Amino acid sequence: MIDFEQPEVLARQVKLAQTIAVEVMRPIARYYDEHEHDRPWEYINAMWSGQLTGGTRGRPSAAAGEGEGPILRSVIGVCVTEALAWGDAGINLSTPGQGLGGAAIQAVGTPDQKQRFLTRFSEGEPKWGAMAMTEPQAGSDTARIATTAKLSEDGTEWILNGEKIFVTGGLMAAKESPGLVVVWATVDPTAGRAGMKGFVVESATPGMTVVRLEKKHGIRASDTAAISFQDCHIPYDNILGSAEVAKPGSTSNKGFQGAMKTFDATRPGVAAGAIGIGRASLEFVKESLEKQGRPIRYGLPYSQLTVVERDVMRMEGQLRAAWLLVLRAAWLMDQDLPNTTEASMCKVKAGEAVTWITHKAVEILGPDGYSCKNLVEKWMRDAKINDLYEGTGQINRLIVARRLLGYSSKELQ
Ligand SMILES: Cc1cc2nc3c(=O)[nH]c(=O)nc-3n(C[C@H](O)[C@H](O)[C@H](O)COP(=O)(O)OP(=O)(O)OC[C@H]3O[C@@H](n4cnc5c(N)ncnc54)[C@H](O)[C@@H]3O)c2cc1C
Repeated sequence: MIDFEQPEVLARQVKLAQTIAVEVMRPIARYYDEHEHDRPWEYINAMWSGQLTGGTRGRPSAAAGEGEGPILRSVIGVCVTEALAWGDAGINLSTPGQGLGGAAIQAVGTPDQKQRFLTRFSEGEPKWGAMAMTEPQAGSDTARIATTAKLSEDGTEWILNGEKIFVTGGLMAAKESPGLVVVWATVDPTAGRAGMKGFVVESATPGMTVVRLEKKHGIRASDTAAISFQDCHIPYDNILGSAEVAKPGSTSNKGFQGAMKTFDATRPGVAAGAIGIGRASLEFVKESLEKQGRPIRYGLPYSQLTVVERDVMRMEGQLRAAWLLVLRAAWLMDQDLPNTTEASMCKVKAGEAVTWITHKAVEILGPDGYSCKNLVEKWMRDAKINDLYEGTGQINRLIVARRLLGYSSKELQ
């Protein structure tokens, strides 16, 4: 039996997130879209102080649900993200906290590393964690990562050299808060993915420089940085997992698996954010049609529906299908079960659905959809990134296909 009733702890956190979305995020959404490199400090400070989140620093999801029945960390996480992205997807990405960097540490760090690096995210001033994997020559094909990590002569430090681009929250994590960046680099450039490891670089470490902030199509409230590493020395113990490189032909590839484990944990969140944008657009369309005296007439035979009614119902269907996939991927994680296939599936479906839904919303509303007097045109711009980052739609389809058909990444590229 499938039980869709929301447990009390989940309903409470979602309600909190919805209130923040309506009262704090929506009123400032347009401003930060138009002022790309300003940071929404009023939101950030309020989220960090716990004023808005019932005492929790950062998202309402953090630590909620513990000791109150079944563990629901991931399910609460996606529900809260959906609600905050409904408020504003870019501002949601600016929420202080562990971010992708923390997810990587959670996925592959030792208990000592989790303690050493993650405690900061529940104390002191607001902080961000970011993850730097993409390089000018290495996006989908992570085997081409050229950033190197070499051991110092005395073996006590790693020395990083390379260029990273498109780092979400990179400025805040690397420079403007005492946060951290998890950098994926190779310890053996001849070993392909087997040589790839994650390294924790603390904010303001000499040799790590934010060289540029991107100007973007959407999610403009989120900073996206290019970061260079030039002889950047970090302690030996900042490597995530073992420094050992798996032998050629070995099926064990802990370095790359670490990165993939991170994505298993974060792709459902990206998909949930997409769905928040989709729901915002859909609700706006339905409200506008109602105001025009053309409410959606549910329950009529298909042949009697208008084209617009069919479109809106298809939008709703797409959104709900994607949402069920997100819940499944998050639920598996909460049960400590493998979710790689489901995480990619929900990301593909949500990324594609929200891109289509937001375009349809603009189309149905016509000039009111295209005009900057409403947020619909912005949601259309904010939506597309969900089909690009954390694995493009094509790459996530490849992951699903390989796993369903039993092919290795060499056999199906
Ligand atoms: C706003 C923003 C934020 C980002 N945040 C981060 C971040 O925090 N950390 C980080 O490391 N990266 C981040 N990225 C980078 C993002 O993950 C990459 O852009 C993405 O992985 C694609 O890589 P690429 O840009 O090199 O494109 P490419 O890999 O060059 O892909 C170009 C096109 O080819 C397609 N393609 C590539 N290979 C295949 C294949 N084998 N089969 C079929 N199609 C294929 C892709 O799907 C895509 O359509 C961010 C990007 C953006 C735009």
